[in-house]
Amino acid sequence: ELVIDNVWKEYGDQIVLENVSLTVASRAFVALVGPSGCGKSTFLRMLLGQERTTRGTILLDGEPLPPEPGPDRGVVFQRYSVFPHLTVLGNVLLGKELTAAKYKAKLFGSARGGAIEEARQLIAEVGLSGAEGKYPAQLSGGMQQRLALAQALIMKPKVLLLDEPFGALDPGIRAEIHTLMKRLWHETQMTVVMVTHDMREAFTLATRVVAFERPRDRPEEKQRYGATITKDIAIWPPRRAGE
Ligand code: ATP
Ligand code: MG
Repeated sequence: ELVIDNVWKEYGDQIVLENVSLTVASRAFVALVGPSGCGKSTFLRMLLGQERTTRGTILLDGEPLPPEPGPDRGVVFQRYSVFPHLTVLGNVLLGKELTAAKYKAKLFGSARGGAIEEARQLIAEVGLSGAEGKYPAQLSGGMQQRLALAQALIMKPKVLLLDEPFGALDPGIRAEIHTLMKRLWHETQMTVVMVTHDMREAFTLATRVVAFERPRDRPEEKQRYGATITKDIAIWPPRRAGE
C-alpha cells in the first residue's frame, strides 16, 4: 500500500502540488491524468524518490520512502529509459547489477548465470526474443518501450511508475503494448501508477483514474495555488479476476 499524506511540492515561490492525499491499494493500477504542467511528473518523481516533498509524507507498506530510487520501485518514461550503449540483454541486466553493486557485491559465476537466465526470460515475456544482442537504436519505438518495461521489472518492484510510457507510439503499436501491459500486471503483484494524457488508455488499463488540476485557477493567482486531486474515479472491475 502506498500512502501519500498531505503532500506539498514547491519550486521556489511556485506551488506545484498542494496538499495531495491519496492511498493506493497494493496491486491497484492507478492512472493519473490532468492538464499539462499540473505536476503529474513531479508527483511521480516524488514516488520514485528522485524528488523530495516540501511538506507531507509518502509511505510504502508503512515505511517512509527511501530518499533515493531503489529496487522496490521501477520506472518507465516516455523516452530515454534505456541506455543506448548497452544491448537489450545488457539493459535488462543492468538493474540487477546496479543493485548488487549498491550492496558492494558483484554478480559472479552462478549468480551471474542466474541473472542472465532471468533476464532472457523477461525479454521473451515482453516479446523481444531474438533481440538480446541488439542496441536500442536498432529497435522500433514500441520495442524500446518493451525493453524499458523489462528493465523496470527485473527487480520485481512493488511499485511500477510509468510517465506517459506509450504516449509517443502510434495507435496500433500502442494497442499491442496495452495487451502486454495488462498481462504483466495480471501476472505480478505490482502496484502501478501511470501518468497519461490518453483517456482511453486510462480507462482501458487502470482500476482507478485520479485527476489533478488547479481548481481555483485564476490568471493572477497562477503561482499561488498548486494542483490537487479533483476527481477520483473507481473503474469496474476494481480487482483482478480471482480476487
Ligand atoms: P506534462 O503533462 O506537460 O508532462 P506535468 O503535469 O508532468 O506536465 P510537471 O512536469 O510535473 O508537469 O511540472 C509541473 C510544474 O512544475 C511546471 O510548472 C514546471 O515548470 C515545474 N517544475 C517541474 N520541475 C521543476 C524543476 N526541477 N524546477 C523548477 N520547476 C519545475
Ligand atoms: Mg509530465
